Amino acid sequence: MDSSQFRQAAHTAIEDIIQYYDNIHERPVLPSTSPGYLGPLLPDSAPQEGEEWSKIQADIERVIMPGLTHWQSPNFMAFFPCNSSFPGMLGEMYSSAFNSAAFNWICSPAVTELETIVMDWVAKLIALPDCYLSKGEGGGIIQGTASEVVVTAVVAARERFLRKRLADMEEGEEKLDKMAEMRGKLVALGSEHAHSSTQKAAIIAGTRFRSVPAPKESNFKVTGAALRKTIEELKSKGLEPYYFTATLGSTATCALDDFEGIAEVLKDYPDLWIHVDAAYAGSALVCPEYQHLTPVFANFDSFNFNLHKWLLVNFDCSAFFIKKRRDLTDTYSITPSYLRNEFSDSGLVTDYRDWQIPLGRRFRSLKAWFVLRTFGVNGLRSFIRRHIKLGEYFHSLLLGRKDLFMVQTGPDFALTTFSVNPRKLKHSATSADRPDPSHEAYLNDFTAGAEGQYRAEANEVTKAVYEKVNSRAEFFLTSTVICGIYIIRVVSATLSSEEKYLKRVFEVLIEAAEEVLRDREK
Ligand code: PLP
Repeated sequence: MDSSQFRQAAHTAIEDIIQYYDNIHERPVLPSTSPGYLGPLLPDSAPQEGEEWSKIQADIERVIMPGLTHWQSPNFMAFFPCNSSFPGMLGEMYSSAFNSAAFNWICSPAVTELETIVMDWVAKLIALPDCYLSKGEGGGIIQGTASEVVVTAVVAARERFLRKRLADMEEGEEKLDKMAEMRGKLVALGSEHAHSSTQKAAIIAGTRFRSVPAPKESNFKVTGAALRKTIEELKSKGLEPYYFTATLGSTATCALDDFEGIAEVLKDYPDLWIHVDAAYAGSALVCPEYQHLTPVFANFDSFNFNLHKWLLVNFDCSAFFIKKRRDLTDTYSITPSYLRNEFSDSGLVTDYRDWQIPLGRRFRSLKAWFVLRTFGVNGLRSFIRRHIKLGEYFHSLLLGRKDLFMVQTGPDFALTTFSVNPRKLKHSATSADRPDPSHEAYLNDFTAGAEGQYRAEANEVTKAVYEKVNSRAEFFLTSTVICGIYIIRVVSATLSSEEKYLKRVFEVLIEAAEEVLRDREK
């Protein structure tokens, strides 16, 4: 493909992408393909001779579209969103045009310097304490995903812990043996509702993992007391907790851990590395009404959120902020002679390879820069607030049908979770406002975490409703089980989200719930 063919191909591709976005609401959000659908549609091996772009492009609609889940659709209300935007796409285009593996400053000074500046912009935008800015001992780096960030933090935490404990030992065989012995006793911690990436990171780091209880009575948050108790239990067995993931917006319900309580515990266990995982909800910190959450993070070691979830920067763009960048470089800086150069040796530049696991890195800050400049702070705030309002709207719809649905959590950061009442009472307009007292008692019993027959029935019915809604492919929702309660999650936070889609999904949920309940009566 030469440059004039590229021009033509790129124009048609962009036209195609615009059409896709303009009409995305008309496509079923979920594909109706079966596993293995693609094999029979494609040849067994790569073509011997190159093909025309028009033929390749035609295959997007023919073979790819049928197997796509449309994450940008307004009917996508599953997981957490993964928002894209046109300026984000332009950033991706330039980044792939400049195509580099800019690991050291010298590999492309603009890649490193823009990243440092944009990460400082982001830190200020979300009101992180100054210790996370590059002007001091901290700074930000972009990684691909929150999971990669957790691994990076966990391994650095392990190494810092061992360095501190064995600081007095001379380098050599004996110290290496001692380190190996101690590693087996190290324990990484996270809430029982923390994302699975912490457990995975502990496996990769070759250490243990232990979850900290966060029951319904504490709103699914880890309290300082619960963290302290877990640490004390572990220590009494001769184990060494060295790392804890504090969550700002858990995957299941968007729960917030008790950061103030955790900071208190840290006073007694200062070697514990505290990482804040704000993968989704961290984007809400662009709004001043959420920024009261951040001052306490000055006590912690690192913070992360995904701009590719809720801040319009195309996947992948995960912002990792560190309070003391030496905590990363002491672990990850290994410099064979082929990576040396006068600028690195001068100590005047940042080489981001020393802050991360891989060597090469993409020019991701470009798309973040384009998005920040195109939307501006105010544009991003109104984007987030629009979804917060939509979350409140959906929550109010659920409350209007207390006979049928039980809100379990939220709306928190636009996410509401709920379950279906398996013994729906006769509904009338007034019964929702003045619920039957026996019904109210019933709900209390349920929300208080009552075990037994009622819970089992509610779980079964909620699961059946969830499966019915997704099988229709008009909407995509996710469900989960939290502290034994089966819940359906609804989060509507894409660029194309609107009230009318939430109204519709609510109708679909009612239909599905009534069908399931009717079928059970038969
Ligand atoms: N942390 C939380 C709270 C999440 O909800 C998720 C995913 O949704 C992750 C971490 C993992 O995100 P990633 O796909 O960026 O690894």
